[in-house]
Amino acid sequence: MSRKPIIAGNWKMNLLQSEAKSVFEGVKDFVKDYTAKELPTVVIAPVFTSLCAVESVRCNCGCGGNKISIAGQNCHWEKSGAYTGEISVEMLKDAGCEYVIIGHSERRQYFSETDVMINKKAKAILAEGLIPIICCGETLEQREEGVTDSWIAGQIKAALEGISSEDVAKSVIAYEPIWAIGTGKTCDSDEANRVIAMIRNVVKEVAGTEAADSIRILYGGSVKPSTIAEQMSKSDIDGALVGGASLKAESFNEIIANTMSAVTCNV
Ligand code: PGA
Repeated sequence: MSRKPIIAGNWKMNLLQSEAKSVFEGVKDFVKDYTAKELPTVVIAPVFTSLCAVESVRCNCGCGGNKISIAGQNCHWEKSGAYTGEISVEMLKDAGCEYVIIGHSERRQYFSETDVMINKKAKAILAEGLIPIICCGETLEQREEGVTDSWIAGQIKAALEGISSEDVAKSVIAYEPIWAIGTGKTCDSDEANRVIAMIRNVVKEVAGTEAADSIRILYGGSVKPSTIAEQMSKSDIDGALVGGASLKAESFNEIIANTMSAVTCNV
């Protein structure tokens, strides 16, 4: 079963509108020379205030913008209402988003997001026809205690609870060991592949073989142009969620280029 790779850039709380536009233009300029089939699925997740700025330069004129999908970095599960500071999936869709990152460890850690909230968000995203990028990952302490697999299996089962196999198949999971995020320490690619294969088994258990074969599972945590080729060469790693290295067009483009050299994206 071949799955189209995804290279997703998570800009986190970085880049003002003008900066966001300029990085986005840099990526557009690179992808315009390739067909959508040659490229991995390219996704960029700007801050909410830059979504419209980025969407305004995404146009459909052959400049490459239509080969980049936009993602929200978070959402609320309700459609609208008295939820000060929140944003709904419909609003993200209205701003041009096709994907939404949910359950990032920074949101779990600093904003007390729970598995129950992440499950509600995943359902709201799928109901609106968008694709959730569901993040999971263990702390260094959990890894040292030897509970990595059981912890992640629990996160995945909770996130996918009550979601149809068809919707699970369309979804994306990002395995991001917390100790590898923003630290420069990438997880050994064989170990990342082992955990991702374990996640695929959990998906098989809860949603069946077809969903497990279709769902794209990414690795995230200090992905760099120099690490991506080896990561992509592994059997179960379907792409990357990139933080720091996505903030500059040069490094993000290099990650896309190295992905295309390492694997066939035309699936
Ligand atoms: P990093 O972030 O690439 O800067 O480690 C990855 C992420 O948190 O999504």
